[in-house]
Amino acid sequence: MNYIFGPVNSRRLGRSLGVDLFREKICSLNCIYCEVGATTRLTCERAEHAPTAAVIAEIDAFFRQKRAEEVDFVTVTASGEPTLHSGLGEIINHLKQTTGKPVAVLTNGTLLWDGQVRKELAQADVVIPSLDSALPAGFRKVDRPAQCLDLKRIIEGMTLFSQEFSGQIWLEILLVAGINDTDKEISALCAVAARMRLDRIQLNTVIRPPLEAFAKPLSQARMEAVAAEFLRHAPNRPVDLLCGGAAQEESRAKGQNNLFDLDRPADRQTLLAEIMEMLKRRPCTAADINRVFHAGGADRIEQLLDALIRDGLLHKRTHSGRLYYQIAEREAHSD
Ligand code: SF4
Repeated sequence: MNYIFGPVNSRRLGRSLGVDLFREKICSLNCIYCEVGATTRLTCERAEHAPTAAVIAEIDAFFRQKRAEEVDFVTVTASGEPTLHSGLGEIINHLKQTTGKPVAVLTNGTLLWDGQVRKELAQADVVIPSLDSALPAGFRKVDRPAQCLDLKRIIEGMTLFSQEFSGQIWLEILLVAGINDTDKEISALCAVAARMRLDRIQLNTVIRPPLEAFAKPLSQARMEAVAAEFLRHAPNRPVDLLCGGAAQEESRAKGQNNLFDLDRPADRQTLLAEIMEMLKRRPCTAADINRVFHAGGADRIEQLLDALIRDGLLHKRTHSGRLYYQIAEREAHSD
């Protein structure tokens, strides 16, 4: 499968089948914290960046295998920005017509000023747009947009979409220490969010190895203070912190039944293939991997991955005191 992966256990969406549209990093932004890598095509132009018919054929093949009961949500995403794909509306429509599953779309929100993009996304059940700064200087520093983008227009488009859309909107904000976490930045974001119809706000920081080593995470205390500020502006709107520590994730995983029995060779092979697919998309810790696959604990995952390290298929990398696994050919950036 080239365009679909999983299902994986997503903290936000349950068992999620991923549709990852691009093989190359095509995006309208080049965020300093991006975990996918540097943007190779920085553009605002919508085009047939992926073969829509091939993506739909893979979706059909998955559901023909009668694996629908394994899936709670289908999540459309991309190694880059999925709304840049001109076939996005057709893919969402196909998912809605044929799978019977709710559809979520992860987007950087930069094309929501375009009425056609809003119309295509309107078919989804959950849209998760991101907005990291409501101030032009912060937006430029954190998200490094394509020249064709204008922050005011983006915010107007996002606000309009929030009022038109009948599904759930979860706004994700990623904060980088010393860049978009000042009181001025947070006030501007709170003011903009107050004009939108949002079901929840999800605050994140640089948890995973970023594209740029200078992109640093906020402390847990500062994240909680920022969450309190959003709640002060809109007390009835939930604010989630997506940046729980490793210990928290491990204890969450421990409460769940194992999906893979690592003593069975067939389970080991299947799990290794799934882990490689996951790591092609982003670096992960052993705890991240265990949280997704419930394989008996981070220790068991580490033992399993040792062989892939020895074979040169994976590398280890430390970020913020946590050990990440990544595909060996992925370009390393020192922290
Ligand atoms: S974080 Fe998302 S929006 Fe930013 S560069 Fe990476 S893929 Fe694009």
